[in-house]
Amino acid sequence: MSYRSIIAGADSEQPDVTTATTAAAEAFAGYRATTPEARADFLEAVADEIEASRPEIVEAAVAESHLPEGRISGEVGRTTGQLRMFAGVVRRGDHLGVRIDPALPDRTPLPRADIRQRQIPLGPVAVFGASNFPLAFSTAGGDTASALAAGCPVVVKGHPAHPLTGYLVAQAVTRAVQNAGLPVGTFSYLLSTDFKAGIELGQTLVVDPRIKAVGFTGSRGGGLAIAAAAAARPEPIPVYAEMSSINPVVVLSGALDGDVDALATAYVGSLTLGAGQFCTNPGLLFLPKSEAGDAFLAAAGRATAEAVGGTMLTSGIASAYEKGIATLRATDGVTVVGEGKAGTEDAPAPQIVEAARLDGVTDEIFGASGVVIRYDSVEELLPSLSSLEGQLTATVHATDADDEAAAQVVSALELKVGRILFNGWPTGVEVGHAMVHGGPFPATSDSRTTSVGSLAIERFQRPVAYQDVPTALLPEAVRDDNPWHLARRIDGELQLP
Ligand code: NAP
Repeated sequence: MSYRSIIAGADSEQPDVTTATTAAAEAFAGYRATTPEARADFLEAVADEIEASRPEIVEAAVAESHLPEGRISGEVGRTTGQLRMFAGVVRRGDHLGVRIDPALPDRTPLPRADIRQRQIPLGPVAVFGASNFPLAFSTAGGDTASALAAGCPVVVKGHPAHPLTGYLVAQAVTRAVQNAGLPVGTFSYLLSTDFKAGIELGQTLVVDPRIKAVGFTGSRGGGLAIAAAAAARPEPIPVYAEMSSINPVVVLSGALDGDVDALATAYVGSLTLGAGQFCTNPGLLFLPKSEAGDAFLAAAGRATAEAVGGTMLTSGIASAYEKGIATLRATDGVTVVGEGKAGTEDAPAPQIVEAARLDGVTDEIFGASGVVIRYDSVEELLPSLSSLEGQLTATVHATDADDEAAAQVVSALELKVGRILFNGWPTGVEVGHAMVHGGPFPATSDSRTTSVGSLAIERFQRPVAYQDVPTALLPEAVRDDNPWHLARRIDGELQLP
């Protein structure tokens, strides 16, 4: 089956940016005027259409990504789940963010005006998905779902690593747009499978004056290039780029009192999951210098030796991994702890190394490569944690006996990451209201938000205050008689204002 671009509801041989963005700009007024109910119904219809095409989508994504069917099937569920979660957010009016300061005419020395605030959508959004999540972080993934939920038309730059998957998902979204009677420019999908042309296409999209915000998931180089292009526009726009992370894991001594073999096996399991191609892959681990630490490291080495490399997403990603581990191994103070076996074709071996110091070993190597740093004391550990770049996650392994050290570690880590987890592994990101999938640079270009979970919708909105605006002219959301600020429902709980 062939794949193409889909521009404003029609198949197109050429990924024509101007036609797509013009249609998106024209669609904006009509799409943002949809009622919460209609918009929620549309998001659910997108999920239904994706599910209706599930067999073809799963087949295409497995073939294009080399990821196993179970994983891809789970990703379909995650993708439809987050569309439905945003439908719930919109239906409850949570996205409107209504705040009201009622008039105080008798206040002295000055009366207060009636001021009412709500969130409005920014306008057409450009979405760049990543290769490693062909569904959940791609064509109808979290960025698209949150932008559509906010009331923004979306133009997706299709990822060349999964062109057919992207096209099939784009067809599903387009059917939902058409069935809902929404403006055709509500969604477009631009695809170029040529490497140089793909970069040019992305750059052209970001600098198009009709685009008002960008959601990006991918490499640090790509995210920075897009952020720079957006900042250099005559009208700069926000870029929410989710980029690289090595997700430090801190093992405190109490955690080594238990079954170190099981802990080490679980670590290697997380490191090698999906050929290590997760943005939350635990690429750096801090381990006590102790006998129990030695036992953990030896067990991790044995588990790694048994691991077999999986075929990576693309040949380019496989060769970047091989180049990255060659550079790492040549770094002063680095010794190999465990090396697995290479699989067939573009499936390089997983590895764990020990490094004497952090210098030169903290760049993301996308794939199953782990670095272990030993430490003597928490006093020695804390400055290392503070010297790290921003990360998506940090994991602490500890028991109650570690409470004092753990408190200091958490305090250092919360300045560095978007999510801290205890006694688990960072691969696997729950989609919910409290999740943060973000973090300080270079994990993202904007640490104030998240790309997973319901808070993600705020990236594509801005607040407007209405001061003494006559009731008849007020948007429904901020009127006294609207259902959202009189009684707001959050997950079934009735919250009175
Ligand atoms: P990528 O190579 O950066 O590509 C992502 C998209 O950006 C592609 O559509 C690509 O287009 C485009 N692009 C890249 N450079 C560009 C430039 N200079 N100008 C305009 N467009 C550009 O990333 P990937 O290989 O797909 O994804 C793997 C990376 O994503 C890993 O580093 C991983 O850690 C990260 N990731 C992060 C998260 C997170 O949430 N933080 C989640 C998943 C993955 P072309 O391919 O057509 O050039």
